[in-house]
Amino acid sequence: MLKIFNTLTRKKEKLIPLVNGKIKIYVCGVTVYDLCHLGHARTFLAFDTIIRYLHHCGYQVNYVRNITDIDDKIIKRAHENNETTKKLTNRMIKEMHLDFDALNILRPNYEPKVTDHIDIIIKFIHLLIQKKHAYIAPNGDVMFSVKTMRNYGILSKKKIPDIHNVSKNPNIKNPSIDFVLWKISKPGEPYWLSPWGAGRPGWHIECSAMNHSIFGNQLDIHGGGSDLIFPHHDNEIAQSVCAYNMPCAKVWIHSGMLLLNHEKMSKSSNNFLTIRDILRRYDPETIRYFLMSAHYRNQLKYNDNSLNNARASLKRLYIALRDTKTNTEIKLSSEDYFISKFISKMNDDFNTPEAYSVLFDIAHKLNDLKIKRHSLTPKIAATLKYLANTIGLLYQNPEIFLKKIALKNNKKFNFKKIERLIKRREDARNNNQWELSDRIRNKLTIMGITLEDSSTGTTRWHFNNTIHVTKNN
Ligand SMILES: [Zn+2]
Repeated sequence: MLKIFNTLTRKKEKLIPLVNGKIKIYVCGVTVYDLCHLGHARTFLAFDTIIRYLHHCGYQVNYVRNITDIDDKIIKRAHENNETTKKLTNRMIKEMHLDFDALNILRPNYEPKVTDHIDIIIKFIHLLIQKKHAYIAPNGDVMFSVKTMRNYGILSKKKIPDIHNVSKNPNIKNPSIDFVLWKISKPGEPYWLSPWGAGRPGWHIECSAMNHSIFGNQLDIHGGGSDLIFPHHDNEIAQSVCAYNMPCAKVWIHSGMLLLNHEKMSKSSNNFLTIRDILRRYDPETIRYFLMSAHYRNQLKYNDNSLNNARASLKRLYIALRDTKTNTEIKLSSEDYFISKFISKMNDDFNTPEAYSVLFDIAHKLNDLKIKRHSLTPKIAATLKYLANTIGLLYQNPEIFLKKIALKNNKKFNFKKIERLIKRREDARNNNQWELSDRIRNKLTIMGITLEDSSTGTTRWHFNNTIHVTKNN
């Protein structure tokens, strides 16, 4: 049975849906003012893996991921670009979809935008004022009154005195712990009319309002990056409980941060790599593989070797899968040894590193069976592909993947030249010209090509990233 670590209780718990067989999940999405960076990819890939696995478990999943299309950063960037916020955000939403689609991240069932939900946000704020959980500040902004929420900080486990201490920090300009629900717009800024004046919603209120309007009072899972636990998610809980007495989501899932130069990858600290930049250099599946290589709750460090190592690992899986037939009518069962092992790892809070190790066990077995031309080869190959597919991997034709990464990652590559050299080497071997054959092999090794001679006399090649390593014959 699937167990998930719940941030709310700090325990792994059995997943028990509110309605049998169905899961309602809301994940806080992207603020669309620029291209997404690799940290975004990590967060949304974590949830993509979770969604895929929930599907695999047979749940009917209703997955909602919002889009923040109005906020201070968006207004600033649109102003710098001399364009409207709408034009900027529409463009960035398209770019986000391009990047996420490339990484094989499934689209959510619904992607609500804040600017399409201003009415329900205003209604929500109105209710909070009526119930005396919100007030109008001297500058006209509507603020949430934190002290009116008894269990404030229930998710982060911060107590109000702690927060008071934090707010004494002179670097924090606003010493108040209350947060803005409706912000009065300055001249020239986009605005919507409200009972409290022309303005725009604060960040936290959008998720509570959209969540409530889409799902009503019940939600199975609420998720986001771990940097959202406080204050964003604590504030969401405060708003929803105070306005609608809405019980907290049953399970809160938070993904760990991606670290670059030992710090969280983020736009605001100018410490990031865009997905687009990385996609220019690496196959998207390699990026996907890397981003799932750590447990989703742990931090993941990015360095210069990360993607090369991921590519080498993924290549090993594809090499095992090459020359096997997986699309025949092979019957697999959840009782099968490798399948039940893989499922037990994923059932343990979506443990992808452990699930990866099962995939490598299968690949190892498969290589062995291939050499022996064993009758179980197709079944084990099908098992490898099936399990990897459940987490969005090994979806390409092995032959194409292996050739593609070779060509994509070395512009000097001349496909025809490689094939020509391999043919010359084959001829040399057939004519017992072993010295010539070895010379050609060495030349190919220097070019970064690894050769595999099969028992049937044919030769396959793949790109070898560590081109200085001489392979044993
Ligand atoms: Zn949110």
